[in-house]
Amino acid sequence: MFSWRKIKNIKSIEESKAFCIKPWVHLFVSQEGTVAPCCLTPWDKKQALGDVNEQPIQEIWNGPEIRSFRKQLLADKPNSKCSQCYQNEKVGLRSKRNIVNFLYGKNYLHWVKETTRNGYSKNSKPIYWDIRISNLCNLKCRICGHHSSSSWYDDAKAIDATSYDTKIHRGPKDFDQLMDQLDVFIDDLEELYFAGGEPIIMPEHFKLLNELVKRKKFNVKLRYNTNFSQTHFKNTDLLEIWSKFDDVFIHASIDDSGDRGMLQRKGLSWNNVIENRKRMLKISPNIDFMITPTISILNIFHICEFHKNWVLEGLIEIDEFIPHVLKNPLYYNLRILPAPLKEKVKDIINNHVDWILKYIENHPPKPPKKEHLEKWKDQLDMLHINKITGHVKLDMLINELKNCIIYMNTRDETHLIPEFTKMSDQLDRLRNENTKETIPELSILWD
Ligand code: SF4
Repeated sequence: MFSWRKIKNIKSIEESKAFCIKPWVHLFVSQEGTVAPCCLTPWDKKQALGDVNEQPIQEIWNGPEIRSFRKQLLADKPNSKCSQCYQNEKVGLRSKRNIVNFLYGKNYLHWVKETTRNGYSKNSKPIYWDIRISNLCNLKCRICGHHSSSSWYDDAKAIDATSYDTKIHRGPKDFDQLMDQLDVFIDDLEELYFAGGEPIIMPEHFKLLNELVKRKKFNVKLRYNTNFSQTHFKNTDLLEIWSKFDDVFIHASIDDSGDRGMLQRKGLSWNNVIENRKRMLKISPNIDFMITPTISILNIFHICEFHKNWVLEGLIEIDEFIPHVLKNPLYYNLRILPAPLKEKVKDIINNHVDWILKYIENHPPKPPKKEHLEKWKDQLDMLHINKITGHVKLDMLINELKNCIIYMNTRDETHLIPEFTKMSDQLDRLRNENTKETIPELSILWD
């Protein structure tokens, strides 16, 4: 064992400050075509591990960049690529590092341990893919931009904020060629994560899904980050295809309800969202569903009410809702709120947590599946969740809500309010909307 190597067993992973198992198990291809450790790390060419438009995946997987990254992580040394995870952990937020170590650390520890002194990993392979096919999207959400949504193109042109010369930008320029390269890994594939743009409307997503069906790879875990505006691809009902798979998890990026929801995610039909959820409950109730809103100043005043209504209307279980706090664009960040509004947010969140605790006295959340309990019972500490109710998902939700307050109060960014009002005015004009009227709690920011 090399003396610099700090990661030796599962305990050292659990106690690590910087180690992350992703470069042993995960393939992330960005919308730029670059390969990066994950979606949170920089996508630019200079900091990437490689580029699928220039090199084969096999060459990147044990190339000099990933080997040097692995060496640093084995020594549990922080790497600047991972600053988002460290920042989250510092302010008590859930980090992807904690989650991925929890999910994959135990099963793939042997790949980590057998890594040679120069970071070479003979047997490891990408078993968990996240390939950002393109920025194709049918919505133009306020917190997004042209970089992740083709629908933003005209508005971005009008405010001089385009990310690419073309409306649609593809990561892998030749998707079929990339699939040919990945063919050798498909038999070992464990998890496929789709995000966008909007994956449901992408032909490439459909092609990959059909390939899994053709090979009867129904054990691959399918994870989606979708705006949930559609559950069909052309004439095909995806609910029927998903029902064939053992483990499908839909993370629906829905931030708010009704008119507020439609202002924040322009192009969304609120009625369709409700219909999609009702249809899913009827046709494929076994599909795991979770609302994963991004908390910004646009929805913070109503997010708790949204959660409560969906629970009371029977559209979700109480623990099928995990928000995360928006960091960028900074002018939508909770830290820009003036002190009186921060106080109001604090009250809303604390009252909602009280409601959750009261509600579960008579409606306890469903216990986790027996096989999940068995599988994860000795690793839960890796998630670094403050235990409140003893139900993991519910504790994650309450932690995230409470962490909003901590995060919001770590800094005063009120100087960014003019940037927010300027952007809102521009988009209101272009989209014929009125933020002040739709979200009156924010009108004070224009005073
Ligand atoms: S530590 Fe975080 S940012 Fe770095 S690769 Fe792991 S999950 Fe991604």
